[in-house]
Amino acid sequence: MNGLMMDYQLTLPTLLRRAESYNGDKEIVTRLPDKRFHRTTYAESCRRARALAVGLQNLGLKRGDRVATLCWNHYQHHEAYLGIPCGGFVLHTLNLRLHPNDLAYIATHAGDKAVIVDRSLMPLLEQFLDRTPIEHVLVVEDSYEELLASASADDWRDPELDENEAAAMCYTSGTTGMPKGVLYSHRSTMLHTLGVAAGNPMGLGVSESDSILPVVPMFHANAWGYPYLATMIGAKLVYPGQHLDPESLLDAFVQEKVTWTAGVPTIWLGILGLLDANPGKWDLAHMKGMLVGGSAAPRSMIAGFKERHGLDVVHGWGMTETSPVASTSQLPGELADVEADTQFDYIAMQGRPLPLVELRNRDVEGNILPWDGESMGELEVRGPWVAAGYYDTPEQAERWTEDGWFKTGDVVSMHPRGFIMIKDRSKDVIKSGGEWISSVELENALMAHPAIAEAAVIAIPDAKWDERPLAAVVLREGQAATAEDLRAFLEPNFAKWWLPDRYEFVAEIPKTSVGKFRKTELREMFATQPSGTGAPAPVASK
Ligand code: AMP
Repeated sequence: MNGLMMDYQLTLPTLLRRAESYNGDKEIVTRLPDKRFHRTTYAESCRRARALAVGLQNLGLKRGDRVATLCWNHYQHHEAYLGIPCGGFVLHTLNLRLHPNDLAYIATHAGDKAVIVDRSLMPLLEQFLDRTPIEHVLVVEDSYEELLASASADDWRDPELDENEAAAMCYTSGTTGMPKGVLYSHRSTMLHTLGVAAGNPMGLGVSESDSILPVVPMFHANAWGYPYLATMIGAKLVYPGQHLDPESLLDAFVQEKVTWTAGVPTIWLGILGLLDANPGKWDLAHMKGMLVGGSAAPRSMIAGFKERHGLDVVHGWGMTETSPVASTSQLPGELADVEADTQFDYIAMQGRPLPLVELRNRDVEGNILPWDGESMGELEVRGPWVAAGYYDTPEQAERWTEDGWFKTGDVVSMHPRGFIMIKDRSKDVIKSGGEWISSVELENALMAHPAIAEAAVIAIPDAKWDERPLAAVVLREGQAATAEDLRAFLEPNFAKWWLPDRYEFVAEIPKTSVGKFRKTELREMFATQPSGTGAPAPVASK
């Protein structure tokens, strides 16, 4: 016997209607390039999102067409987050930190038809635009405004979307090989939004009365869901624009009475350092804390914020493939009164899953491992906002188990209370300041150098960026090359922050029985000598 309930479609236009009806006067604030604060409301933002949808239809775009964004965090990007999918198109956020060659590949693979781009990022777009199928370029504060002005929000008609239609896509470089597209549906996005809205001790810990500043870029995995979450609950949003240095962020926290913020550990390490060095300079009495994720948040940082500045850190774990939030380290009630040191131990783990997300830890033979705090295996995940495949990349099917779980590539053990403890990564990628660097791409490029016989690139711990690349290089007999030569050789083809900080010339690269680089051994050899912190900034840069 079936239930007798409405087959109500979980689609993003419901968020528009709700924001307009109930939270129309709540604010969306943006730090402009000249550092002034721009203010608008949800009512106006929704009106413009509808005008954007109409404008894109007027350009001749068809349902399901991909519309890219190449933008910092600001109110126009927020309009795109709503207007593009609500118009029946697919929002494709492009990562502005990637090399133009990667962006050309990604925009082409996705089949982008249009792009919304910041004026300051036009020089980047011009480096790859002619290698993509993009037909329409909408420049923020320029042709984007003209499009909106020419399209009336009153002409907007609800396209009556099916909840399984695609709403957004985001490419991840977090595995080996070419970047891969994750294609979110309206349904998965709505359920993720509800999941992260779940109250303590589960979700992202915010409510309607909060003022939220997402530092996490809007091109990185849906800005961890904050734009949709804030729109759903009607919280004030403060977008930092391109001003991501610690001082600018702290000023914005004070000026806009920010209560909650979110970003990768590198950002917070910088902020903690500045707060420690300038006691009393910024009055953060109104602030509750921050969600930290993308890389492991160091326990010392978690303790430092709480003990010296009264700020709570909640640790989040997730992936582009999981929309992205899958777990948070919100403390359950039974840990509310334990001593602070024990609480920090728990917060430093990767937490427990959000409702509807399931996790398991399996060894190489496929056995499910117990929650004993020790047994190490690969974390697998399933749930309604977990990817079931990559866009147009069938050969990646091995990332899913036969019974339909996604293999994360994170090597974990599970604490007896069900908290994830990430120990290592099976995927050969480096995460620097919250952004991926492909070791395989660097290795291939290095091995094209005439003096190099073999090269393996590994992640080594870094105090500021979490990880930085180190290249272990075997020279051909009778050949010579210096670290400077190799850097100059790589420079034209890679973003600056991808370039290894260190080159180690070795006699041979340790290998496994099947001839693969034994990177764990290399890491052991070099990890004890942390690299410097002078690398170019992938995250905190302008
Ligand atoms: P991305 O798809 O870029 O969001 O990267 C996802 C990967 O980032 C995960 O598979 C982890 O390897 C890493 N990651 C994300 N959050 C955390 C965290 N809280 N602690 C440690 N690693 C994390």
